[in-house]
Amino acid sequence: MPELPEVEVTRRGIDGPLRGARVQSVSLGKPLRWPLGIEPSRLDGAVVEGVSRRGKYLWLQFGSEAGGLLMHLGMSGSLALLQDAGPPGPHDHFSMQTTAGTLRLTDPRRFGAIVWSAALEHEPAARLLSRLGLEPFDPALTPGLFHAALKGRRTPIKALLLCGEVVVGAGNIYACEALHTAGIDPRLRSDRISKPRAARLLEAVRTTLERALALGGSTLRDFRDAHGMDGEFQAEALVYGREGQDCSRCGGIVRRIVQAQRSTFFCAGCQRR
Ligand code: ZN
Repeated sequence: MPELPEVEVTRRGIDGPLRGARVQSVSLGKPLRWPLGIEPSRLDGAVVEGVSRRGKYLWLQFGSEAGGLLMHLGMSGSLALLQDAGPPGPHDHFSMQTTAGTLRLTDPRRFGAIVWSAALEHEPAARLLSRLGLEPFDPALTPGLFHAALKGRRTPIKALLLCGEVVVGAGNIYACEALHTAGIDPRLRSDRISKPRAARLLEAVRTTLERALALGGSTLRDFRDAHGMDGEFQAEALVYGREGQDCSRCGGIVRRIVQAQRSTFFCAGCQRR
């Protein structure tokens, strides 16, 4: 599943080239998770101002009050800006031809979505973004605030990170890695985490995401960045996908358990309750 670093890598790949590009036509494939919400031909002639990111959503802003497109890659989606794009394939469900190339969403499982909204503050964008926690690199997210948010919940810390309501971006791979870095058992209830450990965890979330961004995201089966390249992060993962292998820190064995229907990888030797 594309996580925040992959989405940010995608954004960086398309934002510059698309700025100032004019839409020539939009065509749709099979239905995605939510409908586009506008007649595609009404986007013809709109000019792209830029692409920003909030959580795992991308927001493509048009100029001249033409609104924008809120885009989510779902479980298996990838966005690419293609020169000389051929006709859409069976898994291509959104193609926006512009003067800078064709922005195309390829999404075999179709949990992704591209939704038009008059503005980020208007429906449906406002509703889709309303439950998101703070951005991981937002200076407003201080260790004190993070600890207070953990204190206010009674959820296993891994699940709390994953839900994105406190801080966005720590998806499954990065939550596992950050908890290992911080030496915290993923099953520990969030309200039992001390202030110093919460501070270590927040730092670990940030360094894990920074590392993933620097490496271009994770090598996920379905993920390709906007230029069609694989990321390298997963090859460097310390616990994720390493069930039965030795922990590089303590020599213990990496275990896999299931939490909230997702695999959690951790080392019981050095991740404490
Ligand atoms: Zn260990």
